[in-house]
Amino acid sequence: MSRLFGTDGVRGVVNRELTVDLALKLGLAIGSYFGEGAKLLIGRDVRFGGEMLKHAIIAGLLSTGVRVYDAGLVPTPCLQYNIKVGDYDGGVMITASHNPPEYNGIKVIGSNGVEIPREAEKEIEEIFFEGRVKPVTWSSVVNEVHKHPNAIEMYVNGILEHIDVNKIKAKRFSIVVDPANSVGTLSATLLARKLNVRIVTVNGNLDSAFPGREPEPTVSSLKETAEIVKSVNANFGVGFDGDADRAIFIDDKGRVHWGDRSAAILCKFIAEKEKRKGRVYTGVSSSILIEEYLKPYGVEIVWMKVGSVDIAHAMLKDPNILCGFEENGGFMYPKHQYVRDGSMTLALMLELLSSERRKLSELFDELPQYIPLKTKIPMKREDALKVVEALKERYKNYRLITIDGVKIMLEDSWILVRPSGTEPVLRIMAEAKSEEKLKKLVDEVKSVINEVLLK
Ligand code: MG
Repeated sequence: MSRLFGTDGVRGVVNRELTVDLALKLGLAIGSYFGEGAKLLIGRDVRFGGEMLKHAIIAGLLSTGVRVYDAGLVPTPCLQYNIKVGDYDGGVMITASHNPPEYNGIKVIGSNGVEIPREAEKEIEEIFFEGRVKPVTWSSVVNEVHKHPNAIEMYVNGILEHIDVNKIKAKRFSIVVDPANSVGTLSATLLARKLNVRIVTVNGNLDSAFPGREPEPTVSSLKETAEIVKSVNANFGVGFDGDADRAIFIDDKGRVHWGDRSAAILCKFIAEKEKRKGRVYTGVSSSILIEEYLKPYGVEIVWMKVGSVDIAHAMLKDPNILCGFEENGGFMYPKHQYVRDGSMTLALMLELLSSERRKLSELFDELPQYIPLKTKIPMKREDALKVVEALKERYKNYRLITIDGVKIMLEDSWILVRPSGTEPVLRIMAEAKSEEKLKKLVDEVKSVINEVLLK
């Protein structure tokens, strides 16, 4: 059977892979999965094709007797929160997150606000490919789509319940917000207003073409924004991805910090704030600095396969969960919801700074310093798998994490070697506390790779 769902929903270029025809059929399959009488909330981000896809999906849903409510333009975590607290059986978000502007996507959310598990995606795919859709009889077709008003305000108020509003207000912070011309502007600006935070907005107008920067927040895409953070003397800056579930922070010195670094200081803050230890879930691609930094606070790190949906579902089962994150800036605070949430992360960062005398740059300087290296080697998947096996054997006396490729943990250094899930390459990520250590480790691993390829 072919697959529709990738690691994060159905994705494709609008009117090339992601056509109205596909959206309509998927709407029918999703409606058949939830069943007649189910109540679903639908929303979209700013992307081209969003409105077109929304109407096609809604048509499919209505024909299966599903009741549809429309939340309008919303960040993904905002739709998820409204599904969770509302009386909904689930929902559909139309977004391609951080992908280039020509892409759009469709993801299905369960009644708890979390993306449906893999098994449920498979079930929808089976209904889709086997044509087992269940249109209802003519008089049971739902003939109305209701508005779901105030989704953004409900979501922002939900965030405020978890933070010390007055403490933040008293500080009168000044920050730079860069929502990449997409829906993050709707929630972050309202949040800032309610917290007495002065904001300078960069790329703040909604624009489907993403004219300001690419929708993925990275060191290079946030370069100009980082300059602005420095020039306006802001306390910090934050850049969201296209659907505002990921937040990347820029400190007062204009340095862009990757998500595992901001997660480290946020996890420590949450452990202190909630006065408990607990577990933190993250993908194997995150830095081991998180373990080193959080160990003294009794926080345990659980390493997972890369991918936020699996991380969220594992967190749901853990009563001792503190939080979860991805190194790309997706941070999950379960007290609010078990999903990546850009505005919640921003609110936590503001609260953290409100209980600190130090600047954000000083807090980042306190983290263990590692030199990173990221590279990839073109290689057939079967060779990549052989390389992983050879490395497991070669380093069997060391601490290994083998849930997704192999991550070798050494004193003051680590290296992750994994076959890509989307292209024929072997991905390598490594970090060490010195250039020499980094070079030694990478050279050692590369010699094992060469041995395997020569065989
Ligand atoms: Mg996203």
